[in-house]
Amino acid sequence: RFITLEGIDGSGKSTQARLLAGALEAHGHDVTLTREPGGSPGAEEIRALVLEGDPDRWSAETELLLFTAARRDHLERTIRPALDAGKVVICDRFVDSTRMYQGLSRGDLRAKVDALHRLMIGIEADLTLLFDMDPDLGHARAKGRGTAEERFEDFGAGMQAKMRQGFLDLAAEFSDRFRVIDAGRAIEAVAEDVAALVLEHLA
Ligand code: C5P
Repeated sequence: RFITLEGIDGSGKSTQARLLAGALEAHGHDVTLTREPGGSPGAEEIRALVLEGDPDRWSAETELLLFTAARRDHLERTIRPALDAGKVVICDRFVDSTRMYQGLSRGDLRAKVDALHRLMIGIEADLTLLFDMDPDLGHARAKGRGTAEERFEDFGAGMQAKMRQGFLDLAAEFSDRFRVIDAGRAIEAVAEDVAALVLEHLA
């Protein structure tokens, strides 16, 4: 079973992904925890190519192709083998992030994102958890973390607000697989909800 976690920067996805993996393992599930961009050695190299260094190095279209190449490698080397082995795959970001970040933030490339996805990737998650929260809070959290990879920091809270709405629109578009989580609460409360929801899905 393939579970993806999505949300704006600072929404707590990565922490919740880790906690969820632990909770599922405690219930006897065999779990592969992975992330995008990245998740395989080649895809991590592509991540670094795009997220580190000059932000204007690649056009929006080239960035989309690079992230699609990264996803293809991640699919071949990590996701597909784990699913075939019967594992539960938890992926911190997947194509919905590309629908947002490459599809929306640098022009309107959504149709190209979807076309490439159909052509080269082909799978959607069985369940997607959207970590929804006030963008000001997310922005503050992401800033506080201070890594070099927060590429949209300079766009400020306005961009975060646009992304938040974009993710909510996506959740409505794919309402069969999306569940929206109120991520503005304490970590433990969110983790409890998430574990209950996913365990029910897997039952
Ligand atoms: O989720 P994570 O913190 O690893 O993402 C790193 C950065 O890459 C974030 O700023 C995120 O917004 C951005 N990103 C992106 N396009 C994607 C996925 C992530 O620009 N498809």
